[in-house]
Amino acid sequence: MFQINENYLQLNESYLFSTIARRVENFSTSHPEADIIRLGIGDVTLPLPPSVLRAMHHAVDEMGVKETFHGYGPEQGYGFLREKIAGIDFRRRGIDISPDEIFVGDGSKSDTGNIGDILGEDNVVAITDPVYPVYLDTNIMRLGKSSRIVLLSCSEENGFLPEIPSQPIDIIYLCYPNNPTGTVMTRQQLKQWVDYALENGSLILFDAAYEAFIRDNDVPRSIYEIEGAKECAIEFRSFSKNAGFTGLRCSYTVVPKALRARSVDGDELPIHSLWNRRQSTKFNGTPYIVQKAAEAVYSSQGRQEVGDMVAYYMRNAEMIREGLTEKGWIFFGGENSPYIWLKCPDGMDSWTFFDRLLEECHIVGTPGVGFGSEGEGYFRLTAFNSHEKTAEAVERIKKWEY
Ligand code: PLP
Repeated sequence: MFQINENYLQLNESYLFSTIARRVENFSTSHPEADIIRLGIGDVTLPLPPSVLRAMHHAVDEMGVKETFHGYGPEQGYGFLREKIAGIDFRRRGIDISPDEIFVGDGSKSDTGNIGDILGEDNVVAITDPVYPVYLDTNIMRLGKSSRIVLLSCSEENGFLPEIPSQPIDIIYLCYPNNPTGTVMTRQQLKQWVDYALENGSLILFDAAYEAFIRDNDVPRSIYEIEGAKECAIEFRSFSKNAGFTGLRCSYTVVPKALRARSVDGDELPIHSLWNRRQSTKFNGTPYIVQKAAEAVYSSQGRQEVGDMVAYYMRNAEMIREGLTEKGWIFFGGENSPYIWLKCPDGMDSWTFFDRLLEECHIVGTPGVGFGSEGEGYFRLTAFNSHEKTAEAVERIKKWEY
């Protein structure tokens, strides 16, 4: 009989959010009257901005006309979008990234999950704990639960920022603004990682899915703001959280041509050509209609609309922060991020807090331990619901006698 990839048996049985969905479903079946407020999953709630919708309608019409119909597109993305990304997200900010260093994808979940295809199995991979589960699970799928996967502890003591490792690390996943802790790295802090990577010949996989939520000027919006990062980092960006594309699916990966890796023979090769090969082989491009929608995000109206959406969510984050401050609870994040990471009161563990918040306040959040063992005793709330629901949730928490 054929065999499975045994590594899959080493994964936790179900994906965190499926477990949460099941618990919420059970609760709402037994309490149909409960008005449940969801501050759990990091999905957006505002509809797509008007300029994006207009661009999509236009692209749909183009697809119905022989002369403007689009079949398979370039696997790397259409030039019209790659040029906008390079120009507006990078060059306008003084970062020299060229359109052909941009690879348009169908979501950062796939991009961060697929990048392992081009990386050797002998690399020592460092992943923060707690972490966005995709990095860890996709590495376990590839390598199994291996001693080559090193967890970098992020705790209250180190401000939920990983410390530079004392052992040599080949690949490091960094995500800032961070999911789940909502923390950020200053330019100075990120520079220490870039310097480490350059000194040790390591690769940084930098997930900037929440870049649009940054407010502080000393927090870098791209790792390429740091000198030398083009020689040691790949950056992932998504249209999901800023422009509401969670259901539409569009992202991009920046693979600088200056980034080189070593083969077993000791030859130095540009990783850009490997990713290009991987994408051309396994991916047939993000739909034309979706790329047209993403292009509209860069129009002046699109930028205004997206800015307003982000501001809307950040107002929710502020409401949650104010409420938790009044309550006297300890929390992190929510200033440059849509996530608030709170310390469960009275030493409660994450799942006990989850159950009590659901049963007594009818609020759904995410247990911190679901993001790694260092998340035990913490809990993530998101700012992605409406003002009304967020305000109501904050009131319930304030009145809660737990
Ligand atoms: N990266 C991080 C850190 C995320 O939190 C998420 C989604 O929650 C993603 C990537 C996935 O984004 P996308 O919708 O582009 O797949």
